[in-house]
Amino acid sequence: EPQLSGDFATLMGWADEVRRLKVRANAETPMDADTARKFGAEGIGLCRTEHMFFDPERIGAVRQMIMAETEEGRRDAIARLLPFQRKDFVELFRIMAGLPVTIRLLDPPLHEFLPHKEEELAELAESLGVDVEAMRRRADDLKEANPMLGHRGCRLGITYPEIYEMQARAIFEAAVEIGKESGKALVPEIMIPLVGMVRELEVTRAQVDKVAKAVFAETGTTIEYLVGTMIELPRAALIADKIAEVGDFFSFGTNDLTQTVFGLSRDDAGKFLPTYVEKGILPKDPFVSLDVDGVGALVEIAAEKGRATKPGLKLGICGEHGGDPASIQFCEKAGLDYVSCSPYRVPVARLAAAQAALSGGGVDRTA
Ligand code: PEP
Ligand code: MG
Repeated sequence: EPQLSGDFATLMGWADEVRRLKVRANAETPMDADTARKFGAEGIGLCRTEHMFFDPERIGAVRQMIMAETEEGRRDAIARLLPFQRKDFVELFRIMAGLPVTIRLLDPPLHEFLPHKEEELAELAESLGVDVEAMRRRADDLKEANPMLGHRGCRLGITYPEIYEMQARAIFEAAVEIGKESGKALVPEIMIPLVGMVRELEVTRAQVDKVAKAVFAETGTTIEYLVGTMIELPRAALIADKIAEVGDFFSFGTNDLTQTVFGLSRDDAGKFLPTYVEKGILPKDPFVSLDVDGVGALVEIAAEKGRATKPGLKLGICGEHGGDPASIQFCEKAGLDYVSCSPYRVPVARLAAAQAALSGGGVDRTA
């Protein structure tokens, strides 16, 4: 049972008195959310929704959706996920008790949800009543040479609007329910991943707004909500002034931003990064400690441009760097509002945020 007590809790209290940065957690299960709160998280900065799709009770409907050949077929399949997804958000909102919760709509390529072994694929075809050959063809169609740069993030939400619409509906229905239960209005924060063009955010935001309207009409309850975006592509950072005209907040996805700024794959970097660090070509692993000169420069550009459009635009970071003390130092200097990290790193982040506030935010340069 995680809990902070004694001298450590006292130290944390001092840290909280001096820090400016808020500390949120990346959490997607009730257990994560519970741990996050016990460690002092002030909200959820990133609820990744993909893991919720892998639950054994749900994966069948997910796969049925992927295999469906028509939009209607996909809508029927995804309708089966709605009650589960609504329950996910009801539970998280209840645990977080009014603290902010940022939910990211589906991000990974659909191929990740299909079985990889040939015999599992055959079994799935049988259970869905589809031809094995058709199943194989669909699975092959979904394969990508560079899945991390492929059909994922908002690109999915644009080609299959029914996915984001189901998720948005689950979020709004859950928020209305918890609002009634707690007597306090809940303001859900919906986050769109992998945005690189303004139109992508406009189109996905319109889907979310349409669902919001429908749910408010059905329930007779209107609530406030935010629709924001991840900034995790260099292009998004460079046009952040225009993105801020459409989005209500930014959260820096520095995992993907590191990958795309360096042009190196998150999945393969382990093959050469240790040698780079050993030979002093890079001072540190940039996936752990923020690369100030490249990734950091883009964070600063996006922060400045975003706030030029909307003064006070809420800015956070939810990549792994949000739990790294040196990176938190950078976030302080860049003027972010919060960092979001794994629940177990929340105490470290609270201390680092205090240190950053006290030292005024000097940073190490890499090149
Ligand atoms: C990121 O890219 O930094 C991020 C938080 O999203 P994910 O790691 O899920 O891609
Ligand atoms: Mg990402």
